[in-house]
Amino acid sequence: MPDMQHEKPVFYAAPENTVPMPTARKKPASAKKAAPAKSLRTADKLARLGLGNDMALVLHLPMRYEDETQLHTIRDASAIHGIPVQVEGVVTDCDIQYRPRRQLVVKLSDDTGLLVMRFLNFYGSQATQMAVGKRLRVRGEVRHGFFGDEMVHPTVKSVEPDAPLPDALTPVYPAGEGLSQGLLRKAIANAMTRIDWSDTLPENLREALKLMPFEPAIRLLHNPPPDVDEHALAERSHPAWIRMKFDELLAQQLSMKRAQAARRQQGAPVLGAPGALTDALLRTLPFRLTGAQQRVLEEARADIRQPYPMQRLLQGDVGSGKTVVAALAAAQAIDNGYQAALMAPTEILAEQHFRKIASWLEPLGVDVAWLTGSLKKRDKEDARARIESGTAQLVVGTHALIQHDVDFAKLGLVIVDEQHRFGVAQRLTLRNKGVGSVPHQLMMSATPIPRTLAMTYYADLEVSVIDELPPGRTPVVTRLVAQERRDEVVARVHAAALEGRQVYWVCPLIEESEALQLQTATETHELLSAALPDLRVGLVHGRLKPADKQQVMDAFARGELHVLVATTVIEVGVDVPNASLMVIEHAERFGLSQLHQLRGRVGRGAAASACLLMYQGPLGPVARERLGIMRETNDGFEIARRDLAIRGPGEFLGARQSGQAMLRFADLETDQWLVEKARDVAQQLLATQSAVAEAHLARWLGAKEDYLRV
Ligand code: ADP
Ligand code: MG
Repeated sequence: MPDMQHEKPVFYAAPENTVPMPTARKKPASAKKAAPAKSLRTADKLARLGLGNDMALVLHLPMRYEDETQLHTIRDASAIHGIPVQVEGVVTDCDIQYRPRRQLVVKLSDDTGLLVMRFLNFYGSQATQMAVGKRLRVRGEVRHGFFGDEMVHPTVKSVEPDAPLPDALTPVYPAGEGLSQGLLRKAIANAMTRIDWSDTLPENLREALKLMPFEPAIRLLHNPPPDVDEHALAERSHPAWIRMKFDELLAQQLSMKRAQAARRQQGAPVLGAPGALTDALLRTLPFRLTGAQQRVLEEARADIRQPYPMQRLLQGDVGSGKTVVAALAAAQAIDNGYQAALMAPTEILAEQHFRKIASWLEPLGVDVAWLTGSLKKRDKEDARARIESGTAQLVVGTHALIQHDVDFAKLGLVIVDEQHRFGVAQRLTLRNKGVGSVPHQLMMSATPIPRTLAMTYYADLEVSVIDELPPGRTPVVTRLVAQERRDEVVARVHAAALEGRQVYWVCPLIEESEALQLQTATETHELLSAALPDLRVGLVHGRLKPADKQQVMDAFARGELHVLVATTVIEVGVDVPNASLMVIEHAERFGLSQLHQLRGRVGRGAAASACLLMYQGPLGPVARERLGIMRETNDGFEIARRDLAIRGPGEFLGARQSGQAMLRFADLETDQWLVEKARDVAQQLLATQSAVAEAHLARWLGAKEDYLRV
């Protein structure tokens, strides 16, 4: 699968602003001649939208409806702003203008006034359609242009005088480039005459679930009757929508359960009982496992004992102690004669893991290899050789681990930290490095995924949660501080340093430009160094050479720096217990989970810790709410839940994950109850009515083989 970073699900390929093209008028003679070539192209375009077969077309439901049941006069229309209106008139002028850029300008008049229409990208056929004397019905928003009232890119239809107005809402479909609404409507209407309308849900089940039958639901959504509850339709709470959402979620649950079954067919090494190494590690650790760590470790152990690959997500809030669980699982793999690999998304994080885990395992005689892109060629070759021969028992690194020239001798366990930072393809690549069998996979994330998401996007993952922090932590107190009070913040930094504490100062995230972010960090470093001449202030950012970066981080960890000015490179995993104050500038620009991750860098020791979120006012209502959440709670799950409510799941998961998130109709937040129903029904069908399950899957997967696939 390609990296989905910029790829949206096919069904959203049509942004709202796709300009609907006018319905092509047919000229009987030429239309016949051109038909084959044209229909071929249309089929291609439809296929590109994932609409390669009739059922896919029928399940291509409108994103909204247009009310074309009303007609305004041009005079009345020019008083209506912000919403589209429909007018009808006769073309009095049709002209291609070249200034300020090439455009088609058409003047339309009725008895009450004149309207100018502008088309920037237009086909020659449109000029013909809108020739002087033609009667047109046009729909768009009226704007006051320089030369009077105008519509830019209205939808245009040729009509006979006194043509009747439609008495139902007109569906507007997600469309792709070059696919007109008219064309889609026709293709869908045709498909509706051909498909098998049978209901995939047995009557008694459907009634028990109080769901609308399939056929009337589909027909209503494509052609809502005049008396339909328009609000329910727009909100997608209409029973017809509920039926479609349920069917979609059911297909998703079924398909994921099927993937799970397929996974169980794959062979994986049986990593039986923990052995001498695991025992020794437990004995020599400088702390005892918390109850939660013990529990999730047992859960993972139960999985890796099986002859099919584990696929487990280990969730635990920042600082909950996931690393040691990973190390213990790795020790068990090594005890059983297999290699383990740990991959982290950044060099800083990977190196931190390496240092920590090596400090635990090397004294016990384990060969731990270190592999990242920035290693010298010789060191890289050496690491690869040890990995290939099997002398390296544990390998820690970055993306370098999944390069094609890295071959493992006997890979039994793959651990991916901050798994949401990797694409699906990258995780699969590492998993495919097993020889003769599929390694077990343990994924770790500090970004808690709310229940509904875990149930849908991650239906094929077992989830373990560390819901307890190691003892001796004090909760971080979070305060919001306006940018104007920066001096007070600097004074607070000074005071903390005098108490022997250390401080992180995180510079604003500048989305557009890494260079700018760097510049800000450098400036902040200079300003703080000048304002706090008696303190040692360090600077770390992503552009530093790894060795320099490490040097600064080490100095901070050893307490040789009071203040560490940083970009978001310190977001994950950095662990300095003596740091008890964190300042985040322009906190309003950060995502909530990112703020939570950053904040997790403090509160790691016994000292009371604080996080100061500086913001640039005035804050809008959403920004205010978001920062308010940070102040109110330290619970990553609660933050994620509320973040999801504000932003919606697509954004929550981030671009990479949303590649998997291909629900078209259901909304995970508002339709949570449906998700749960669908999951139960999926389980029930697979257990007792597998033919029904197959029929339902066949209908919904149809031409879309990747759709809903994990
Ligand atoms: P995260 O879950 O964020 O990856 P880490 O694994 O980095 O957390 O653990 C955070 C800190 O807590 C580390 O310094 C780690 O050594 C320490 N730690 C982990 N488990 C325990 C425990 N049971 N008792 C005390 N400290 C622990
Ligand atoms: Mg970690």
